[in-house]
Amino acid sequence: MSCLFCQIVNGTIPSKAVYQDDQCYAFADITPQAPVHVLVVPREHIASLTDAEKSHHDLLGHLLGVAAEIARTHALSKGYRVVINSGPDGGQSVDHLHVHLLGGRKLTWPPG
Ligand code: AMP
Ligand code: ZN
Repeated sequence: MSCLFCQIVNGTIPSKAVYQDDQCYAFADITPQAPVHVLVVPREHIASLTDAEKSHHDLLGHLLGVAAEIARTHALSKGYRVVINSGPDGGQSVDHLHVHLLGGRKLTWPPG
């Protein structure tokens, strides 16, 4: 199995855990782009948002809810950003669906 995030989910590759449940695992990004930069990934391998099917819609909602809960526990009361990069033009570099939670500084818009 060659997927980086599958290996992080199953513990083959170490990571700094932030949250976990039966559907997802959240961990610190190795190259943080903000004081808080957490990735929330489904335990199931789904390559990208484009590859998510109707049967995954509840799971997608769960990932967002978990991101919001992590933001609450990290005291991001001034706001934060949730990002899903999808495909080459979207800037996706790891082909296992993941939600970025970024916060702890003023974020600019538009993104690059
Ligand atoms: P994306 O570019 O949207 O596919 O995001 C992939 C993210 O995974 C990047 O922000 C990387 O810094 C992060 N990343 C890559 N390898 C690791 C790792 N071993 N542990 C934690 N985060 C990682
Ligand atoms: Zn995977």
